Amino acid sequence: MLDQLRVIVQRVNAAKNLQSALNIIVRRVREALNTQVCSVYLYDTDINSHVLMASEGLKAQAVGHVSLEIGEGLVGLVAKHAEPINLQDASTHPSYHYIEETGEEVFHAFLGVPIIHHRSVLGVLVVQHEERRAFDEGEEAFLITLSAQLAGVIAHAEATGAIQGLSPSGHKVSDTVFPGISGSSGVSIGRIVVVFPPADLSQIPERQTKDIEKEIEFFNNCLNAVQEDMRELNAQIADQIAEEERQLFDVYVSMLDDDALGNEVVERIKMGSWAQGALAYVANEHIRNFEMMSDNYLRERAVDIRDLCSRVLFYLQQKEPITTEYSEDTILVSEELTPVMLAEVPKNKLNGLISVKGSGNSHVAILARTMGIPTVMGAVDLPLNKLDGKQVIVDGYKGEVIGNPSDIVLTRYRNTIKEQDELIAGLEDLKDVPCVSADDHRVHLWVNTGLMSDVTKSLDQGAEGIGLFRTEVPFLLSERFPSEQEQTEIYREQLEAFAPKLVTMRTLDIGGDKDLSYFPIDEENPFLGWRGIRVTLDHPEIFMAQVRAMLRASIGLENLQIMLPMISNVNEVNSALQLIKRAYRELLQEHLNVKFPPIGVMIELPAAVYQTRALARLVDFISVGSNDLTQYLLAVDRNNPRVANLYSAFHPAVLNALYHVVSEAQQEEKPVSICGEMAGDPGAAVLLMAMGFDTLSMNSAALLKVKSVIRSVSLEAAQDLLDQVMQMEDAQMIRSAVDLTLYNAGVDRLLRSSRTN
Ligand code: PEP
Ligand code: MG
Repeated sequence: MLDQLRVIVQRVNAAKNLQSALNIIVRRVREALNTQVCSVYLYDTDINSHVLMASEGLKAQAVGHVSLEIGEGLVGLVAKHAEPINLQDASTHPSYHYIEETGEEVFHAFLGVPIIHHRSVLGVLVVQHEERRAFDEGEEAFLITLSAQLAGVIAHAEATGAIQGLSPSGHKVSDTVFPGISGSSGVSIGRIVVVFPPADLSQIPERQTKDIEKEIEFFNNCLNAVQEDMRELNAQIADQIAEEERQLFDVYVSMLDDDALGNEVVERIKMGSWAQGALAYVANEHIRNFEMMSDNYLRERAVDIRDLCSRVLFYLQQKEPITTEYSEDTILVSEELTPVMLAEVPKNKLNGLISVKGSGNSHVAILARTMGIPTVMGAVDLPLNKLDGKQVIVDGYKGEVIGNPSDIVLTRYRNTIKEQDELIAGLEDLKDVPCVSADDHRVHLWVNTGLMSDVTKSLDQGAEGIGLFRTEVPFLLSERFPSEQEQTEIYREQLEAFAPKLVTMRTLDIGGDKDLSYFPIDEENPFLGWRGIRVTLDHPEIFMAQVRAMLRASIGLENLQIMLPMISNVNEVNSALQLIKRAYRELLQEHLNVKFPPIGVMIELPAAVYQTRALARLVDFISVGSNDLTQYLLAVDRNNPRVANLYSAFHPAVLNALYHVVSEAQQEEKPVSICGEMAGDPGAAVLLMAMGFDTLSMNSAALLKVKSVIRSVSLEAAQDLLDQVMQMEDAQMIRSAVDLTLYNAGVDRLLRSSRTN
């Protein structure tokens, strides 16, 4: 049975379109179960019915014509209850609905199972038999298992039709939503340009070379050509992103260096292989090794290697250069987007990015955020090969793509984009005014940064400090640990740009989904594993170098604060404090005029929530990382599109935890801030102010919107709202109550397309 299942799923997977997939299903299942009829009905939203899409055993003329409304007939009943129905004699069931066209009156036994994908019933898989006997347990289990495995394939095939504007039964559809994860916020509309790796490394035969010397020379020339391309691309985007972010391109050049990949290929050519074969062998070995690792970052390295090596292969194959036509409103799409692909799009033509694979921490997403390009990552249901030239909407706030948009939806999004642009322009005047509520309560608005371009943007928006400098970002874009001196320079830039305003530097927060290629962490369950402070306490040399660099960078500026991530107990704080003090003493002994900075703890884990007071007593300030806190409280992976609908900072448990942290920190008279995404959601910001957060630290793009909302609402009204929502039991209800208050305050337009769920 298991083999049969596997074969059917494989065949269906390989089908060229939905109809042939369904035809394979009905033929193969009928054979496997040795039954007389197998049919598939699919739900068609356009006509609100289940349409008979394929059948072996029922009359051919019924296929495509017969349909049953929701709840109608046995098929409708299976779909309605999302449960199998197994009957000896279908005709005696009260819901039996005889349709003459099908010729099914001779078949008595009936087994129907729902086809369910992400909770919605896509259709029903039915087998029938003349004999009056119920299908046995084994047969029922087989059909249920098969249906569960086929649901994803059918959903994908349906998506392929939907992107072309067609429902499963050929009706017109529009506004199909393809879910993913937000890579960079903002909304854009444009035409898709799909990019593929320039040459295929998997299709290279092994061959011997006649002239080894010549082959090596040819290979080296091709390698140099790609290195040259990388340098050119680096220069091409120089005016769009800062020097340090472009380091990635240097990394690519050096990956191809003589002493790296290049050398391995040459060694293989020396053994007699032709250059293409040698390159494909070396590249595929590396790709396979990296892909086998469960570590996200290393898997991404596989993407880099595939991309770079296929560029070299392209030169080796001496193909005509591919000229991609980028439309004026390009939405760049690829199976796995790379920074190189992004850099190849001419400036001002790039409206949005969509990657079928990857997460919010992929390199391309980091760059997209820096460049302010709306981006959706992990849009796994998108049918890549049908997309070229299609118009889509990229909603980088919600992390979804809308295919085949209707005029109404397009107009709505265009208005939103225009409204947001006007709104932002209209908020310019707020830059230099303080963030005070309508009844004069002061809240401090700080920003989160990772790269130098974030700093420049933040200062433009009137940020009052940096609440979170994610120090791992420059580490992520580097090819080895930056030295103490290199780190000092990076940190100095941020401190200088903001001085005398405070800059909160978080110690290295790697692990989870943020891994360094040069420091692999390969774990089954990385979010519950070696992450943040756990890594750096185990590697004091890394921690010490970083803290020394921070302290050295702050000499004469004295606007540094240090913050510790992923704290789960007081011992971690004590150990970190000892190391920080040691670094401080060392620098004093080196006659450097360093000042001991304020130290803070991040509250990101449920355990830390309940130890806020104990932790607060040890340090100078508390900062809540609501992104991780939400993830850990709700047990919802923040990068998993499948459970994205469960991730909500408005969940009563999250709000309760936040409120608890603030009151505990206040009892210890320690300032408390929040630096997760929710601080930048204007609706959430009102609640956070009411809870008593002193500082909200956010993405710079959200700053003026939040300021505008806070200035329009009184602390008293915000506290009334908070009292009200703290009684509520459901995230959605809370969200609606917040929206309503802002609507009444006349600032609801600031909410649109800037929400965190
Ligand atoms: C957080 O977890 O809320 C946070 C600010 O840290 P990061 O998003 O970098 O994990
Ligand atoms: Mg965090």
